[in-house]
Amino acid sequence: MLKGVFPVERFAPLRTPFYYYDLDLLRRTLRKVAESSAGLPGARVHYAVKANFNPVILKEIASFGFGADCVSGGEIKAALDAGFAPEGIVFAGVGKSDREIDYALQQGISRFNVESAAELEVINELAGKAGKTAPVSLRVNPDIGAHTHSNITTGLAENKFGINYEQLEGVLRLALRLGHVKFMGLHFHIGSQILDMMDFVALCNRINSLRESLAKRGLPCGDINVGGGLGINYQHPNHLDIADFDAYFRTFRKHLQLPQGTAVHFELGRSIVAPCGTLISRVLYVKEGTTRRFAIIDASMTELIRPAIYKAYHRIENLTSDEPEEIYDVVGPVCESSDVFLKGASIDKCRRGDLMAIRSAGAYGESMASGYNCRPLPPSVFSDVDF
Ligand SMILES: *Cc1c(COP(=O)(O)O)cnc(C)c1O
Repeated sequence: MLKGVFPVERFAPLRTPFYYYDLDLLRRTLRKVAESSAGLPGARVHYAVKANFNPVILKEIASFGFGADCVSGGEIKAALDAGFAPEGIVFAGVGKSDREIDYALQQGISRFNVESAAELEVINELAGKAGKTAPVSLRVNPDIGAHTHSNITTGLAENKFGINYEQLEGVLRLALRLGHVKFMGLHFHIGSQILDMMDFVALCNRINSLRESLAKRGLPCGDINVGGGLGINYQHPNHLDIADFDAYFRTFRKHLQLPQGTAVHFELGRSIVAPCGTLISRVLYVKEGTTRRFAIIDASMTELIRPAIYKAYHRIENLTSDEPEEIYDVVGPVCESSDVFLKGASIDKCRRGDLMAIRSAGAYGESMASGYNCRPLPPSVFSDVDF
């Protein structure tokens, strides 16, 4: 079975489980993002911090000059600490607290992506008290279903996110009227792990027709933030280690109709960090069940919850075995039946102590880790650093 290149000898003395980050792959990815986005005039890329807020990863991304997309005050602080400029920080989320809004105003971030009329009024009031004007975009719910898992669609009318079409004109007029906010543009985000470019074409078409209908009523639309959501190939991490950024940015260049000079903001999370992260674990026991064979490993849903909550697929490789493949259910030690990484996986024969690589785990892995069952948070090691 084809395996990724991992420094297995360096892993040997380390306590498992831990996250291993390939910083060279991260840098190649970031260079590719910079290069592909340069083909779209006005493109500004913001990294979605929630995908991975490990300080080493954040610093690397900040050093490329990208902006940051944050969904909490804590993420704004993490981004600033890592070196992201406040002028490149955008702040989204349906439930921004007063403290978070105050903090964001003090730091001088570039944009509040506002999700309701109620939130707009609170931002206006807090900005007034602080003697500031808050730059705002309105997050529109475009009622588009991305072809992805139902827990990660965000752009459907039934989702909690954004302002729906019927209310948009009213909220936009309110934004133009209020004294302490400045209307800057419209924001969209339709979901995650999107591989079908037609979903993004549909988003572009929605944005184009919305701009037209707002213009007819004499309303501005400002600049455009198309959100994130570009998917990666979880099946073949060794062949396809960088997402198709060319196709992605080409789609927006071709289908989004904007007046010259209009900025287009992107908020990419998964596609930037997922491939460079691997969860490394050891086999604790091989257990022969009545109908199935289990590889019980020392990593669990507390380090990587995506399989448990989204039934997400991560390729698993045995790094220390070359024996013929056998079929395993790869499971963790946590007391939940959903603590399963992969069922019926064909993996090189496992023995106690073997090192297992759970691939493409750099996004929504470490950042979603928990301490359930009193388990410690996973440490991280990096390809560049001696360990
Ligand atoms: C989560 C999120 C993103 C990033 O999504 P990815 O699928 O990781 O690219 C971008 N924008 C907003 C508003 C988000 O909530």
